[in-house]
Amino acid sequence: MRLSRYFLPVLKETPAEAQIVSHRLMLRAGMIKQASAGIYSWLPLGFKVLKRIEQIVHEEQERAGHIPMLMPTLQSADLWRESGRYDDYGEEMLRIKDRHDRDMLYGPTNEELITDIFRSYVRSYKDLPLTLYHIQWKFRDERRPRFGVMRGREFYMKDGYNFDLSKDDALHAYNRHLVSYLRSYERMGLQAIPMRADGGPIGGDYTHEFLVLAETGESEVFYDSAVTDLTFGDRDIDYDNVEQCAGVLEEFTSKYARTDETHDETVWADVPEDRQRVARGIEVGQIFYFGTKYSEAMGATVQDADGNQVPVHMGSHGIGVSRLLGAIIEANHDDNGIIWPEGVTPFHCGIVNLKQGDEAADAACEGLYDQLTKAGLEPLYDDRNERAGGKFATMDLIGLPWRITVGPRGLKNGVVELTNRRTGESEELAPEAAVAKVVAIYAGV
Ligand code: ATP
Ligand code: MG
Repeated sequence: MRLSRYFLPVLKETPAEAQIVSHRLMLRAGMIKQASAGIYSWLPLGFKVLKRIEQIVHEEQERAGHIPMLMPTLQSADLWRESGRYDDYGEEMLRIKDRHDRDMLYGPTNEELITDIFRSYVRSYKDLPLTLYHIQWKFRDERRPRFGVMRGREFYMKDGYNFDLSKDDALHAYNRHLVSYLRSYERMGLQAIPMRADGGPIGGDYTHEFLVLAETGESEVFYDSAVTDLTFGDRDIDYDNVEQCAGVLEEFTSKYARTDETHDETVWADVPEDRQRVARGIEVGQIFYFGTKYSEAMGATVQDADGNQVPVHMGSHGIGVSRLLGAIIEANHDDNGIIWPEGVTPFHCGIVNLKQGDEAADAACEGLYDQLTKAGLEPLYDDRNERAGGKFATMDLIGLPWRITVGPRGLKNGVVELTNRRTGESEELAPEAAVAKVVAIYAGV
């Protein structure tokens, strides 16, 4: 993309309404525009990152054997009356009437709709296990929408639902989700720590929230510092292997890590004092096993091997796709702007032409643009007739991990400058060598 033809409405001033850094930077970098309280338009740069995150989530869910589909945003109230949640959900549910005076709602989540789909088609235990998921807009009429996309009213969420014959099978689905989530967050450059969460009225230990540590997080968290040493890395996981998935759960959840909702002073006291950490975190996902709650209420049964009709065991698993943009920025920025991890960056590499109109500089930039594009990368070429300082400020603000700077003086010596956004380190290289280096870096992402 050439910046002269792109739509990147960056702001010079810091918007007064934004209280936290990720919200300020998303507004300043021209990524989002508020449409009304807690509802945003995704401008081209923000949309690009949203799609990158969505793509990682899809790839990792499909790798785990979970099946993508799409359900509507608007739902009929009838299904929610069946499950008993229409009245329970309260004011967070946006209720709408259609022209025939029928009660509709903008879905805050999809347990009812997916259970209805399941019961309409699936009859036999032979069709299990089954995990369906979608990535779709949700609406929750939050009392205090704030912090930009972190707590919106309309937000983008991946929600998956597993259907299994037994509790054991459903717990394997739970573990599979935990593994696939750890992998997804790491690909986004984030450390998200699974923390035991509040089981709510269902109780039990079978829910974990994934939290990214950040000062601006809304949850208070208590953890053993040993959990931050764990990384998923590129280990090979067979998602059908029950012991292997259970092993990962054990490894990542056996150390103390809880939110304030489940914090237990007695157990906490057993954590060595020099490893006790109290901090704040952003919830970027949650997994849940809830047994037969919805299947019993809504008659989602299958015939088992003995010919009996039994309710299926279910769980639901969510990732806050749009919230993740905020969380990633909270964890990756400096005074000059965003620093995108390579896995989610909107463009792979910036090209800054220090002297637009200079024949050699223009030709070199075009050459770099071509080579990076042919290698399958997306460069952003700042080809505007602007001061170098302004171009650097824009590149730093929007946070591309790599920048190639091209000027007549360097070209006389046959070099361009390759700069790492995170470390600020630069090196002079021949243009082809700069391209080769950037291509090699992304080949490993
Ligand atoms: P919270 O406690 O933050 O209100 P939740 O526990 O109610 O979230 P879930 O039902 O677990 O949310 O939804 C799955 C994920 O969707 C959450 O982990 C979070 O990342 C994201 N999410 C939930 N509410 C919002 C919101 N209002 N804006 C943006 N993302 C959200
Ligand atoms: Mg949650």
